[in-house]
Amino acid sequence: MGRLYLIQLDGGIYTCRNCGSHLAHCDELISKAFHCRRGRAYLFNTVVNVSVGPQEERMMTTGMHMVADIFCNCCGQIVGWKYEAAHEKNQKYKEGKFILERAKMADFDGTNFYLDAHPVGSDVDDA
Ligand SMILES: [Zn+2]
Repeated sequence: MGRLYLIQLDGGIYTCRNCGSHLAHCDELISKAFHCRRGRAYLFNTVVNVSVGPQEERMMTTGMHMVADIFCNCCGQIVGWKYEAAHEKNQKYKEGKFILERAKMADFDGTNFYLDAHPVGSDVDDA
């Protein structure tokens, strides 16, 4: 560990809009029903090619969470955040999961097909 290398994914993938690094596979998508200050946001089981920043307490519309911003390993922009811990019992499913902001992602082929098709998940509001 500690060496910078980029993981290449196959199939339907989401990439960093800024530099094109692969960020997540569409199979890892849990929900597209999240929102952040800059618009829509998607919840993933796992993401790749990101660094996790320091943890901080953040008040969200669904309650207090311990979160950490995540950064693209290649270009350094903030692409979303990781849920380290949730205080509310019914929000515990998000622990260890990752949010990627819709505005920070692109589809691997530039069509946004995977970004905007197949809405999944329930209606969740978060910030
Ligand atoms: Zn990037």
